[in-house]
Amino acid sequence: MNILALDIGGSKLIAALLFVDDSRFEIYSEAHRALVADCRQEQLLTLIDDAVSELGNITFERVGVTIPGLADPRHGIWIYACFSGIRDFPIAQILSDKYGSKPIAIENDVNACALAEKKFGKCRELNDFLWITVSNGIGGGLILNGEVYSGHFGAAAEIGHFGVVDFMDGCQPPIQCGCGHFGCLEAEAAGPGIAKRYARRLQEQQKLNPSIPVPILPPYTAQKVAELARSGDTIALSVMETTGTLLGKAASYAVNLLNLEAVILGGGVAQSFDLLLPSLEKSFRSRLFQNANPSVKLEQTGLGYRAGLAGAAALTLFQ
Ligand SMILES: [Zn+2]
Repeated sequence: MNILALDIGGSKLIAALLFVDDSRFEIYSEAHRALVADCRQEQLLTLIDDAVSELGNITFERVGVTIPGLADPRHGIWIYACFSGIRDFPIAQILSDKYGSKPIAIENDVNACALAEKKFGKCRELNDFLWITVSNGIGGGLILNGEVYSGHFGAAAEIGHFGVVDFMDGCQPPIQCGCGHFGCLEAEAAGPGIAKRYARRLQEQQKLNPSIPVPILPPYTAQKVAELARSGDTIALSVMETTGTLLGKAASYAVNLLNLEAVILGGGVAQSFDLLLPSLEKSFRSRLFQNANPSVKLEQTGLGYRAGLAGAAALTLFQ
């Protein structure tokens, strides 16, 4: 069946036409649009129209929408996203009116990615696993007994707010998280945290040795830090090592709690999985209750940057 997929992120929107069946998806065409911070509902709908008009004339039967923040899939409501002006947005009804009453499925983007990994990726044979998106933020999607587990208030698996750095841990103070607490995984190991840690460590080194060369100029980004690490920069390597350690710590807590078969990492920062892997594995395995979790896997997604679109496609299979 042909479907329209809308992958709405924090900073961009991807619209795509796809073929999807129970075991695979194929992208016919896709269009990208940048989203401004504080994006309002009307602006978003205009951008969706604009992107969809670029896709060509293939007809579609269903629409799958992945959204950041809190979703109410049953009622098709986008409840909230902290970085935008979106509140209680009945997006499914509006799109259904727009597209001739076609069935519309919406879901939180991270939950949808987890579902896509189950349908199309590395976890087809697995029934209990955790997907972690590591990007500008960190989110978790749980598959338990083969289905998305959303929790009582629809916000399960908020692994980004596991406390992983404490004031008592060492010389560096924990970074404050958007949720208000200090030392959350999201604050410490998502893109902005990686950039912040790099800046701190460079500054410390420069205090000790003012003649140390400055390899890159601010603004620092996780991508720049990863590139520097690949070129052998010791500060960047140490930052990626710390990031892996913190992600491994949080993943081990989740597995010890839920006795999962796998933890899958996706998102922009997870593109540097090879740089994270040594410390990630070490930190993860060293904290696991090994006897209860003898063969749990810790891997990068098999879906690449298309995980969001794959997620939107997977949603339409359950309508
Ligand atoms: Zn937090």
